Amino acid sequence: MTIELHNTLTRKKQVFKPANPKRVTFYVCGPTVYNHAHVGNFRPAVAFDLLFRVLRHHYGGEHVLYARNITDIEDKIIRAAQELNQPINAITQKYAQIYRDESAALNILPPSMEPAATDHISEIITLIDLLLQKGAAYCEQGHILFDINQFDDYGKLSNLNIDDMIAGARVEVAPYKRNAADFVLWKPSTDDEPGWDVPDQWDIKGKGRPGWHAECSAMIKKNLGTTIDIHAGGQDLRFPHHENEIAQSQCAYDAPLAHIWLHNGFLQMAGSDKMSKSLGNIVLVRDLLKKWPGEVLRWALLSAQYRQPLEWGDDLLAQSKKQLDRFYRLLSEHDDSHDNQKENNKTQIDAGVIGSLNDDLNTPGAMAALHALRDQAAAQKGNEKNHAIAILKASGQLMGFFNHQPKEWFKQDFTQSENGLNDTEIEALISERGKAKAAKDFARSDEIRDRLKENGIIIEDSATNTTWRRE
Ligand SMILES: [Zn+2]
Repeated sequence: MTIELHNTLTRKKQVFKPANPKRVTFYVCGPTVYNHAHVGNFRPAVAFDLLFRVLRHHYGGEHVLYARNITDIEDKIIRAAQELNQPINAITQKYAQIYRDESAALNILPPSMEPAATDHISEIITLIDLLLQKGAAYCEQGHILFDINQFDDYGKLSNLNIDDMIAGARVEVAPYKRNAADFVLWKPSTDDEPGWDVPDQWDIKGKGRPGWHAECSAMIKKNLGTTIDIHAGGQDLRFPHHENEIAQSQCAYDAPLAHIWLHNGFLQMAGSDKMSKSLGNIVLVRDLLKKWPGEVLRWALLSAQYRQPLEWGDDLLAQSKKQLDRFYRLLSEHDDSHDNQKENNKTQIDAGVIGSLNDDLNTPGAMAALHALRDQAAAQKGNEKNHAIAILKASGQLMGFFNHQPKEWFKQDFTQSENGLNDTEIEALISERGKAKAAKDFARSDEIRDRLKENGIIIEDSATNTTWRRE
């Protein structure tokens, strides 16, 4: 089986062929750590975690090298440190740990490596020095800038010409730039800003610090190599960030930075626009995790294919919770007394699930396959049923779901349904009704049925069990 991915660079879906299947290299631009992440920040984190899992499934865990960086030097971080009157590394360490904890709550695997920009200052300086030597960068008013006129392919990734880019107002016009689209590789630091010494041969004096774009190029070169298989990030990073990464790396090393570029679509707030601070509609993952299990957030974030826009809201979360509840109800019927770790690892993955994931991470397709598996398993009995549930569980776990014991899942009770009965209460009533019927206490079993009906819950009895749904 092959994996197909939509490459932003070629604007086509193409078969993924790593340069070396024993060392698949994958980089995602990680968080800038100075505040709490919002749910939009976690869309790429979850989508590309899923790709990491699919790559590991294909090539083996030890053959996939996934780097997700930490940006721990940036103007926004410096400003936050000044406002809070705290040391910069106290802030970056605090928020990097919060990001890791929230990632774990969403079943995001730790990447193979997590390079931090401040650990790569000498590599960043080496990169900039190479660009200066090659005439692709210049010094002006204490800054070092990349000269985009030295790179013919500038704009190829984002499919923009330079006039469009400047008109898009995403580039800062500054007196020290030759072209408005030239970007900062190194900037001067004042005494109260963090700074590093520069090499004597540079035409600038005093301490300075790197620009954001240069960090990723240097960290990729150091940790993964000159040309990597896959580079991914949010759609908003395509220009200028990724365009600039390509320009720097290609000019410095005379080789492409990445074969495949992936970009996820925006997360939109239901009934409004893109989530943004200026619109005041930021939803923090920290707040969502007080109300919903992390697995529900993960399900919701993967409910649309990663390139498509995703409309975020409480309805989506409630729907996601309801769907996961249906899986956990079936999983609670699984007799895992004979399972051991070894067997679990060998359990086959459903062809419909992996087939959809291989198709440019078609998560709606993979979720539909999980639903079909559940329905099939529910209709089976005995060993067959156990086997079907084991496949469902392994296939869901490949996607980062079904990591709870069903009993625990139904105990973590954050939500009340609009009907006043939450899923756990409904399950409990149905179980009580089953016992009442078995004891021929029909008055009680009818009473429970009526109560469920008043709450909009329809129950259906089969020969072996009772299922329920909301009206
Ligand atoms: Zn980057």
